[in-house]
Amino acid sequence: MKAAPRSNGYRDAWAGDLDASRAGSAARVAGWVHRRRDHGGLIFVDLRDRSGLLQLVFHPEQAEAFATAERVRPEHVLSAAGEIVRRDPENVNPNLPTGEIELQVADVTALAESETPPFPIDEDTPVDEMIRLRHRMLDLRRQSMRDALILRDAVIRTMRETLAAEDFLDIETPILTRSTPEGARDFLVPNRREPGSWYALPQSPQLFKQLLMMSGYERYYQIARCFRDEDTRADRQAEFTQLDVEMGFVDEDDVIEVMERVMSRVFDVAGAGIPAPPWERLPFDEAMARYGSDRPDRRFGLEIVDVSDALRGSDFKVFEGVLSSGGAVRAINAGAREMSRSELDGLNEVVQRHGGKAVAWANVEEDGSWRSPIAKFLGEERTAAAGSALRASPGDVLLFVADQPDVAAGALGGLRLELGRRFGLIPDGEHDVHWVVDFPMFERTDEGGWTAMHHPFTAPTGSFDDPGAMRSRGYDLIVDGSELGGGSIRINTPEVQREVFKVIGMSEEEADARFGFLLEALRYGAPPHGGIALGIDRVVAVLGARDSIRDVIAFPKTATGQDPLTGAPAPIDDRQLRELGLRVR
Ligand code: ASP
Repeated sequence: MKAAPRSNGYRDAWAGDLDASRAGSAARVAGWVHRRRDHGGLIFVDLRDRSGLLQLVFHPEQAEAFATAERVRPEHVLSAAGEIVRRDPENVNPNLPTGEIELQVADVTALAESETPPFPIDEDTPVDEMIRLRHRMLDLRRQSMRDALILRDAVIRTMRETLAAEDFLDIETPILTRSTPEGARDFLVPNRREPGSWYALPQSPQLFKQLLMMSGYERYYQIARCFRDEDTRADRQAEFTQLDVEMGFVDEDDVIEVMERVMSRVFDVAGAGIPAPPWERLPFDEAMARYGSDRPDRRFGLEIVDVSDALRGSDFKVFEGVLSSGGAVRAINAGAREMSRSELDGLNEVVQRHGGKAVAWANVEEDGSWRSPIAKFLGEERTAAAGSALRASPGDVLLFVADQPDVAAGALGGLRLELGRRFGLIPDGEHDVHWVVDFPMFERTDEGGWTAMHHPFTAPTGSFDDPGAMRSRGYDLIVDGSELGGGSIRINTPEVQREVFKVIGMSEEEADARFGFLLEALRYGAPPHGGIALGIDRVVAVLGARDSIRDVIAFPKTATGQDPLTGAPAPIDDRQLRELGLRVR
């Protein structure tokens, strides 16, 4: 801890901060009984407070204190005072910062009792997550949760300090607002004063931060809570926290360089060995072609290679059909692997999960020829050309997917990650950080229209005559295959903003009804501006090596949006419904 606590009736020191330099002096500590051991004659209690653990020793000669110690159980709350003494050398615990000393208790006060907790706090034994969430206040007592929340605090503080030192202002934006489009469903809040009118919770402060730039605040940030009512996706929370940033009179380099300074400090504080900036900027098309993903995990190879030209013109109908209809044949050299026939066939299921249809495989023989069901259709010349494109050596397993380019990319991207995991190719403790840039501005919707790939306030480049060829001035920050955040340079004229709304199928009337305030603001001198937002939950999860963002949030919800601790969401009573003018059907 940074400072000793104010001395009061409960404590004058943090338990976990005491050490041998204090031997011979008196101390009073307070906390929870972490563990209690009765050594017939002596009773040992590990006392836990936020700073850590300290061993208390109770001697029978201190009859009153000893009698209390006989009654205490795990998670009882105590205040104890006595002399700090060095442990005998054979009793020193090198794993504990306070392991050289113990407190010989002369006086103890039992402050609160505890029922037997539903799971042990003193061990990191795996406990079912529903039980942990149901009893979150106990779960939060565990070391791993404490470490995560302390890391989270350090991350957020570093962000604040770095940005404050660069003249950013922390400005709050409303939680009760109207729909802001990040492409998810809104959480809605009924309005008692005007039944039938609703607030929406912000999916992000996007439009407010843009307005702040137009109002001349130049550099804004906020640790902002965002709300998106998305269908259950494994590691998402309906409510999550972003570092939200916006800057006036900037281009891409300004935003990217500020974020590189912020995030390299965050990585340092978290002790993550991340290479110093500048970080590589990978064009979207290249990311998709080489890794089959717009958030590639580049900690391992297995890059995707286009072998369309090498294999064109063969007798293999599947490849030819795809190639003649504008598709591609792409492949991964999985390296020298022992994979059984059934294992190879099992990979079909992997690519199907990622939108593909099937995988074709080949084993490279000693003489460079292929042992594969498709080899004879391809012919020696083509297999040799594809083998050289894939840098194939004897023993290698080659895996092919033929499909429309984006489908083949996605399928092989999924396959690549699966192989990386299966073969243990992802090195422990090594990190990869880079930007992805030059995104398409628009992508197709299922209905055949267009939607903005980032959001519709992102500045486009190119001509509106060919929306599919337009690019955006967006950028995403990728760490270890996770998108930690993204942003863009924004549109700053009403004309371009209207054009973008038009491409995504929004009528003038709808644009005015939903975004009239933005279109108006753009008419009164909107400076060039841009920004970014980073998902803090994910940043902390990556840095803390946690599998789930729930493990870095004090009070998270389950994947289905339930809070087992409070029981939210919960029904409301009839009077509340009446007041709001609502009826539940
Ligand atoms: N508002 C965007 C988001 O939440 C980020 C940005 O463009 O600044 O994804």
